[in-house]
Amino acid sequence: MLAYTYTEPGKFELMEKPKPVVLGGQDAVVRVTLGSICTSDLHIKHGAVPRAVPGITVGHEMVGVVESVGSAVATVRPGDRVTVNVETFCGQCFFCKHGFVNNCVDANGGWALGCRIDGGQAEYVRVPYADQGLNRIPDGVSDQQALFVGDVLATGFWAARISEITPEDTVLILGAGPTGICTLLCVLLQGPRRVIVCEKDAARRQFIAAHYPQVLVAEPAHLPEFVAAHSSHGGADVVLEVAGTADTFRLAWQCARPNAIVTVVALYNEPQTLPLPQMYGKNLTFKTGGVDGCDCAEILQHIAAGRLDTTPLITHTFPLADIAAAYALFEGRQAGVIKVAIDPALAPGQRG
Ligand SMILES: [Zn+2]
Ligand SMILES: [Zn+2]
Repeated sequence: MLAYTYTEPGKFELMEKPKPVVLGGQDAVVRVTLGSICTSDLHIKHGAVPRAVPGITVGHEMVGVVESVGSAVATVRPGDRVTVNVETFCGQCFFCKHGFVNNCVDANGGWALGCRIDGGQAEYVRVPYADQGLNRIPDGVSDQQALFVGDVLATGFWAARISEITPEDTVLILGAGPTGICTLLCVLLQGPRRVIVCEKDAARRQFIAAHYPQVLVAEPAHLPEFVAAHSSHGGADVVLEVAGTADTFRLAWQCARPNAIVTVVALYNEPQTLPLPQMYGKNLTFKTGGVDGCDCAEILQHIAAGRLDTTPLITHTFPLADIAAAYALFEGRQAGVIKVAIDPALAPGQRG
C-alpha cells in the first residue's frame, strides 16, 4: 500500500509498504477513507518532534472503515465507520479513568500514531487499544463531517470545556488557524454572550467574517482597547490563546479582565515570560490545554445533531498519490487553504 513516510529530518516520501496487520488482541486495522494534514506533521518534517521515529508513516487525523480487529476488541467490528483518536490510551490507568487520556501512563500512550508508530497518511493504519482509540461514526454523518473529531476538533472541544464559559461571558480567541476555528466552534456551542476572534492574517479574518457573522473579528493592533470596548468589565472574561507567538501570549493576559480564565492551547517554539509584577492583583487563572481526546463520542453527537460543522475548513482535497503537492499547498498557505483532506480513493491528478 502507499504510505507517506518520514525518512529523515526535512524529508517525507511516498512509498510502498506492506499493509498493516493486527499484532495484539486490542488492535484494529482501519482502511483510511479520508485523512488530513496537521501542522504537527510539519513539525515532524522539520525535526521539531524529537520523539518522531524515522521510517514511520505520518498522519494522525483520519477516518475510515474497520477492516479487522483483535480478539479482545469489543466496541467495533469489521465494516464499522470510525474516527481515529490522535492519542493512544489504555483506558485503565489513573489518568485515563479521570478523562486525562493525553497523560496515559502506558508505555505506548500519548501521541503515538504518525509519530512513534505508523499513522494514517496511508491506505491502512493499525490502531492499538482500538476500544479506546476508535469511535463509531453515527449514520448520516459523512467522512468530511467527522474528519477532525480525533485531533483538531478534540483540541478545540477540550479547550472550550476547561475554560468554564458562562452565558454572560465575552470570550476572546487569539488565532484563527484550523485549531483556532475549531476552538471557536466549540466555544459557540457553550453560548457565551459575545465572542471576539483576533487574527493577523487578512484572509483568515475574512474567512471568519464570512462563515461566522455572529463573531467580532479584530486585528492584534490595539486589541486590548477593542476588547475593553466590547466587553462589560474592561476585558475578556475568558481568553483562549491558540496562536502561539510571544505577542499573542502577551495579548492573552493583557486583554483578560481581572479574575479571568486564560486558557493556553497553543504550542510555542520558545518559553514565554509571565511578567508577574505587572500582573500583580489581576488574579488571573491560567490553564494549559494541549489536546485531550476524551470527548470524541460527545463531539460526534454534536455533529450528528447539526450543532457542529467543520466541513467549511476543508478547502482542498487531494489523492494520496499527490500528497506531496498537498503538503506544498498547506505549508505554503497557498490558495486560501485552511485544511487539506487526503482521499486515497481519488485517482492521481484528481482533486476533490
Ligand atoms: Zn494534529
Ligand atoms: Zn491510560
